[in-house]
Amino acid sequence: MAGSDAALAAARLGVAVDLHEMRPTRMTPAHASDKFAEMVCSNSLGGTGETNAKGLLQAELRQAGGAIVTTADTVRVPAGGALAVDRMALAEAVTRRIEAEPLITIHRDEVHEVPSGVTVLATGPLTSDDFANSIRERLGTDFLGFYDAAAPIIDVESIDMTIAYRKGRYGQEADYINLPLDEEAYRRFYEALREARSHTPHDWENLEFFEGCMPIEEIGRRGYDTPRFGPMKPVGLEHPETGQRFHAVVQLRQEDAAGRMWSLVGFQTGLKWGDQKTLVQMLPGLQDAEIVRYGVMHRNTYLNAPRLLDAHLAVREHPDLFVAGVLAGTEGYLESSGTGWLAGMNAARRALGQAPIVPPEASMLGGLVRFLSSANPDGFQPMNANWGLVPNAPKKDEAGRRMGKKDRRMWMYRQGLAAFDAWLETLAMPEAGVVSREPARVDVTLAG
Ligand SMILES: Cc1cc2nc3c(=O)[nH]c(=O)nc-3n(C[C@H](O)[C@H](O)[C@H](O)COP(=O)(O)OP(=O)(O)OC[C@H]3O[C@@H](n4cnc5c(N)ncnc54)[C@H](O)[C@@H]3O)c2cc1C
Repeated sequence: MAGSDAALAAARLGVAVDLHEMRPTRMTPAHASDKFAEMVCSNSLGGTGETNAKGLLQAELRQAGGAIVTTADTVRVPAGGALAVDRMALAEAVTRRIEAEPLITIHRDEVHEVPSGVTVLATGPLTSDDFANSIRERLGTDFLGFYDAAAPIIDVESIDMTIAYRKGRYGQEADYINLPLDEEAYRRFYEALREARSHTPHDWENLEFFEGCMPIEEIGRRGYDTPRFGPMKPVGLEHPETGQRFHAVVQLRQEDAAGRMWSLVGFQTGLKWGDQKTLVQMLPGLQDAEIVRYGVMHRNTYLNAPRLLDAHLAVREHPDLFVAGVLAGTEGYLESSGTGWLAGMNAARRALGQAPIVPPEASMLGGLVRFLSSANPDGFQPMNANWGLVPNAPKKDEAGRRMGKKDRRMWMYRQGLAAFDAWLETLAMPEAGVVSREPARVDVTLAG
């Protein structure tokens, strides 16, 4: 994610880029292809619209010509208020854009040492071990580790639609397939969940999970009703024909453009595959379910950004070295893409002898990178786009009327986007795909 945006942003400024990617020579435990910008868990870049923090970041990156978001717009699948995509179509389209860029040279190799020269490190949560050691030696700091998780994906033809029904929560379009559970079905499911065996070491208490991607078995461990207040929440999901309310509801979201594959929303899991199958087939409507991809859990790798990074994403002690994506302490595809774009811009500017840039404070990208460089380094946790990162809206509008939560978010959205747009204007960016000068005689080396 971050490496793709970084490489294309740097090339757009007319700088030659060496892009190193270890797949397919060496695969990660989560990626399934050799394509760039492969999504490894959900197929969503987050909620859209003027009341959504991720929506603001998407809008900013769209204006900036960020590679992931502008490509995502061309391969969207219906997902209510979210920017969800056909994951393979996204990866293929981004890969084509990179391959078509004459200033980018692709190297299919594993990088073992932090390269010298202007470099962006974007090796992500599954950074290879050798390279992680090299970064540790170079930066003299320890990584923090935790686990991420992916949910099982079901073949749509194996879903019993006489039991399941289509509906979006809160009357949104019927983009989701819902599986209704009565009290008895919930009790049986819960008991099986508590008995299911895990693949990963079991000290859940000692692990810290990717926010919003907590494994279902961990959610279940926290209490009998916890799943019902989390991913199995029935609120707003009454049956559209009978009006019947359920004790719990599991939702499935479309994964691919053709609508063949549907993932269990919020059911990321590290359970053994046999036990996953048993549990999935206990859900009403999935009694004959065919699982096309099982849930997985993996480690994460990220740096203590506030100890190391400037807001323009360079390592303070090594100004030629930039970091982006999950490695830089962001959380999520979109945030990785955004920090990738900024790191690519700043790496290119450094190579060209220009001063680094930081987006305005009111923008979501500006708020995010400021957080990364200035958060409390003790117990630092990765951060995603949220309204707490940008200056708060006033309580009253210009006419003195009290603004509700929705109005205040819309205010922050508009302020943020206007500030970001005005800032972009000052950069006089060349059109995407148009190199306005001879390439600089420098290489930007990107990992990931
Ligand atoms: C199992 C799992 C589930 C996740 N679920 C979600 C989710 O649902 N939603 C979400 O928003 N985020 C999720 N994340 C986080 C997700 O990985 C990031 O949001 C995003 O992919 C990170 O982007 P990135 O560019 O930092 O890393 P990546 O997209 O992983 O890119 C890093 C690249 O570097 C390559 N690489 C690694 N080491 C080397 C090396 N030494 N030499 C050369 N190349 C190397 C890798 O092959 C990879 O292609 C999940 C992560 C994992 C592991």
